[in-house]
Amino acid sequence: MSHHIVLLPGDGIGPDIIQSSVKVIERVMALEGQPVTFSEHLLGGVAIDQTGVPLPDATKEAVVQADAVLLGAVGGPKWDQGPGHLRPEAGLLGLRKALGVYANLRPVKAYQELLGASPLREDVARQVDLLIIRELTGGVYFGERERGQLANGERFAKDTMYYAESEVRRVVKRGFEAARLRQKRLTSVDKANVLDSSRMWREIVMEMAGDYPDVKVEHALVDSCAMHLVTQPERFDVVVTENLFGDILSDEAAVLTGSIGLLPSASLGEGPGLYEPIHGSAPDIAGLGIANPLGTILSSALMLRYSFNMETAAKRIEDAVAAVLANGARTKDIARPGEQVLSTDAMTEAVLANL
Ligand code: NAD
Repeated sequence: MSHHIVLLPGDGIGPDIIQSSVKVIERVMALEGQPVTFSEHLLGGVAIDQTGVPLPDATKEAVVQADAVLLGAVGGPKWDQGPGHLRPEAGLLGLRKALGVYANLRPVKAYQELLGASPLREDVARQVDLLIIRELTGGVYFGERERGQLANGERFAKDTMYYAESEVRRVVKRGFEAARLRQKRLTSVDKANVLDSSRMWREIVMEMAGDYPDVKVEHALVDSCAMHLVTQPERFDVVVTENLFGDILSDEAAVLTGSIGLLPSASLGEGPGLYEPIHGSAPDIAGLGIANPLGTILSSALMLRYSFNMETAAKRIEDAVAAVLANGARTKDIARPGEQVLSTDAMTEAVLANL
């Protein structure tokens, strides 16, 4: 069975890092004896320039028919002035909607050789190896909202944190399944001491735990989780939480290792998964050939794991990245003063040589 991947290079450093990932995917799939095909489509600023809109219909049609989608990044100063619906970011939101992706997965792992880049003490940073799963399409960002005026003339504003049971179940299921592929520990994060939506979330997690007797479940309040992420990150293996809490915790987790160019993400629904590095289009270094391709290469490892069910191949990529870092290969963003700096292409070659 051939796997078809839709590539959305986007803007800035996007095309460079996507090209790197394609080389890695092609090599790994060849090693695994699995055929793979690619097609490239427009998204973001480049799509606005060529078609007038950030998410052209042709792109929308292609992504829903793909087996998986690999995205570089979108955006840049050139398109910052347009109206909201004609900005590159609108293309990103439209893409997530078209794919119906409701679970965002961000693994964050410390590499021994890069501990100095972490804002945490090295003995704490060393312990970071976790996966945050954030609910992506519900909660307070999508609930009913209202602005108005009270009888006394004061303004008021209201946002509603709403979840239907099915929305909670499907993302928590992702949490249990992901934990099974890791250390089999799941922390469900909520604010059940205050919020009803959290109390229902916690009830559902407890009900579902019976179906996963091999996974150890813990519940944590979001404030306590935020604290423990920086003091005892080893407490966490897989963390699953609702949209607002996940937005904040996943950004907190992202900086624990101090290297934004290295972090991958996956957004999953019932259809094709969407894979992208967590960083943006880095317009300040676009076209210089120095972008770190590892976040995107690691995103393609997630694609093999979660969309193609190819755990060995995913590990092969992750091990190759760990090996090049252990061997001292550094792009500019992760190099310390005096260290040799590799181009995007040279870093990609180093990964290929270690597969
Ligand atoms: P950014 O992540 O693009 O860049 C922040 C800093 O990190 C920059 O100095 C950049 O050079 C560096 N950096 C990022 N990725 C790197 C990599 N792979 N290798 C080396 N260095 C890297 O964030 P920003 O500057 O705030 O945003 C730039 C543009 O990207 C904006 O238009 C923003 O809207 C957009 N953006 C897009 C996405 C996305 O496509 N998902 C996400 C965030 C920001």
